[in-house]
Amino acid sequence: MPDSKGFTLSIVVPAYNEGEVLPEFHRRLSAVMDTLNCAWEVLYVNDGSTDNTIDVMHQLRAPHVAIIDLSRNFGKEIALTAGLDHARGDAAVVIDADLQDPPEVIPELIQKWQEGYDVVYARRTTRDGETFFKKLSAKSFYRVIQRVSRVKIPADTGDFRLLSRRAVDALTQLREQHRFMKGLFSWIGYPQTAVYYQRKPRFAGQSKWDYWLLWNLALEGITSFSIAPLKIATYAGLLTSLGSFSYASFIIYKTLVYGDPVKGYPSLMVVILFLGGVQLMSIGVIGEYLGRMFNETKRRPLYFVQNHIPSSVKERPDSIITTTGQQNERTTR
Ligand code: UDP
Ligand code: MG
Repeated sequence: MPDSKGFTLSIVVPAYNEGEVLPEFHRRLSAVMDTLNCAWEVLYVNDGSTDNTIDVMHQLRAPHVAIIDLSRNFGKEIALTAGLDHARGDAAVVIDADLQDPPEVIPELIQKWQEGYDVVYARRTTRDGETFFKKLSAKSFYRVIQRVSRVKIPADTGDFRLLSRRAVDALTQLREQHRFMKGLFSWIGYPQTAVYYQRKPRFAGQSKWDYWLLWNLALEGITSFSIAPLKIATYAGLLTSLGSFSYASFIIYKTLVYGDPVKGYPSLMVVILFLGGVQLMSIGVIGEYLGRMFNETKRRPLYFVQNHIPSSVKERPDSIITTTGQQNERTTR
């Protein structure tokens, strides 16, 4: 671990239509970083914004500011990865541009890192400015994923965290297309710990997440880290077969003992529709996984960079990223 003065910190900021917020974010971040006795760079990743975000980034240009302009909108998870790929520091902090993650927490993250933790995640104690339903759905999601997956994903944690160099290197080796970052952060292992903070409402602009996107993120999380849904299909099948077997025995018994004429149209319909439903659902579940396999097998690069302006921080000797921002070669290892 480098001593308190000799290290360099990279701050990775994915931004999609954050033109309104960025100047204020930059001001607050700089205020915090200037009190720290260390070298630092901030990497602004423009994730194909449709507003003036890229112009604002260029206005903020300074020796310690790096700009990574992606070729289109790839989504937060990939924007974040692009930032980490280009981070040159001894540790990297991942933070949202909208000031929901207060930069003032960064010194605490650094302190824990210096105590020897590789991943220091910021855990929120409050979620101001979010609806009851959003809080409830977030809570149930963490509960479900904890149940069905072996990877422990801490609840109430966003992407705001500090990663040591070896954690960054581990993470950048994971090149899957379906990136559920919260899961990947945990998956890499290494000593991890939490720091608590209060999550604020957005400073300006709008959240890019609606419930449909959140639902898809939840699906992504579960299907990337668990095959429990596939097993559920097996057990549902087993249960229905057992059920129908007992029902069949019951009918045979009734016919033999009481000589009941077979009258079964309604029950037949119910059983057929029920089974049809179960089968369709199971095929759907298999489809979810198959679709993900399909996307992974194409092995496409995660993103393309149309313009990369590096900071003045020296490139790491072991870095294999070309300055034009083409795909990290580590993929092929
Ligand atoms: N973001 C991004 N690409 C996207 C969507 C979002 O880089 O396609 C960034 C966004 O600019 C912000 C962060 O990801 O810095 C979190 O986004 P947002 O505030 O919309 O999410 P929430 O805080 O509601 O979870
Ligand atoms: Mg936000």
